[in-house]
Amino acid sequence: MYPMRSWSVRNARWLSVIYQGIEVVLKMAHPLMKRVGYERLDKPFVKVEKVTKGFLFDSQSCGQCIMSFTGLSCPMNCPKSIRNGPCGGVRANGMCEVNADMTCVWVLAWEGNKRMHKGEYPIQVVQPPVDDRLRGSSAWLRDIRQKVAQQGPTASGSFENS
Ligand code: SF4
Repeated sequence: MYPMRSWSVRNARWLSVIYQGIEVVLKMAHPLMKRVGYERLDKPFVKVEKVTKGFLFDSQSCGQCIMSFTGLSCPMNCPKSIRNGPCGGVRANGMCEVNADMTCVWVLAWEGNKRMHKGEYPIQVVQPPVDDRLRGSSAWLRDIRQKVAQQGPTASGSFENS
């Protein structure tokens, strides 16, 4: 929802704390989710993500969320789908060059980054191009599986199929 975009970046700090809490719970549930099957869980998770992230961030469900790097501003709302922005056309008043009725998502991203991370700039991490094959899949589940795999066998019980 467009009006929520700027609210969410203004409140990026505590929203990210809530997400970190959800992440802890999902990591703890990893053995169970693995048993049920991540593929089976994908659809219900996508539905929850569409409702919550769609409402709060105007998320476009690309399935490879990088909003923890972009101050909770969804880069897929950029008309050019730029993952490392902004482009060179941001208007002097911070509005988008393509859509003058919309604040540039990267102007919002800098604002959110400042609120989420005092003195740190994850927004400057260079992101890979968007992979359209992942569109419509659960970004949360992908993120959890990657993080559990990185933590090793103590967290996941096994590296296999984590
Ligand atoms: S001004 Fe910002 S939102 Fe608009 S096209 Fe450029 S980077 Fe994307």
